[in-house]
Amino acid sequence: MLNTDTEGVLQEAATGALPGWERVEELARAAHARYRAVDDGTVADYIPVLAEADPAWFGIAVAETGGALHEVGETGVAFSIQSISKAFVYALVCEEFGHERIGELVGVDNTGLPFNSVIALELNGGHPMNPMVNAGAIASTALVPGATAAEKWESIQAGLSRFAGRELEVDERVFVSESATNSRNQALARLLQSYGRLDADPGETVELYTRQCSLLVTASDIAVMGATLADGGVNPVTRERVVSADVARDTLAVLAANGLYERSGEWLFQIGLPAKSGVSGGIVAVAPGKGAIGTFSPRLDEAGNSVRGERATAYLSRTLGLNIFASIDARATEGKQR
Ligand code: GLU
Repeated sequence: MLNTDTEGVLQEAATGALPGWERVEELARAAHARYRAVDDGTVADYIPVLAEADPAWFGIAVAETGGALHEVGETGVAFSIQSISKAFVYALVCEEFGHERIGELVGVDNTGLPFNSVIALELNGGHPMNPMVNAGAIASTALVPGATAAEKWESIQAGLSRFAGRELEVDERVFVSESATNSRNQALARLLQSYGRLDADPGETVELYTRQCSLLVTASDIAVMGATLADGGVNPVTRERVVSADVARDTLAVLAANGLYERSGEWLFQIGLPAKSGVSGGIVAVAPGKGAIGTFSPRLDEAGNSVRGERATAYLSRTLGLNIFASIDARATEGKQR
């Protein structure tokens, strides 16, 4: 079972809004102090450059839909976005092709298998099961608008930058390191092609996917990106509409079911928020209508989720009343200012 270490932490009920600025700030600081000494988990090394990360890094950012940003610890350290990019590329292709078509093309159900599983694809007749595992993510990247690979890249980089509210750049070292070791993703793309499920060149698509995973972000960036999904598709800092409210909703539903690898059910059970994690140590968790929590800490559990990030998010979900399933008897709060 996921160890969220929230024994004795009071579960606040989910209400329509975050508490005031001071309370959010105080709880973000408390979460950082409470978990910064946790040293469980290991830094990913299957992409060689990722092993260079400092295991002590720990940043927590909370972006409110009202535009406020809370930052504690290493919120300015840049790391490659990795799998977190899948959520936002998915949103971009949903915006382009719509709910029905994308639901049919990449699916929405959890595989229950590791993110890079080939068996999951085989067992499902070559149909990707959801866009948060590599097969579905590669199929989504292939759908990005653009007549050439360069145009598609432009759509991805500009689209993810709009979510972040600033121009995101690629870490070329990560891109080169992952390109040299991603034969499994190349195999997945070829397999998709063999089933007639990839309408683009497999090598070119994996290159684009690898480049998208190498975009550099900070904990604050992913908090703002998540808060854009919490804010009906409008970036709360730049006020630019990035995707429609329907697309933001659909993306969050997919994250709730699939965002935390094969631990997605446990995460929802313990933390109760749609979220996405990545192997470089980032996690973004979204509280619809309220905001998002971006955490960064490179030590991962066996499923590939950041240990400190998981615990800090669990703590904040409880204390800020973010768990979307937590309610209390409406009469018990009557007349109370919540
Ligand atoms: N680029 C990584 C891969 O495809 C992303 C993995 C992840 O963050 O889960 O292996």
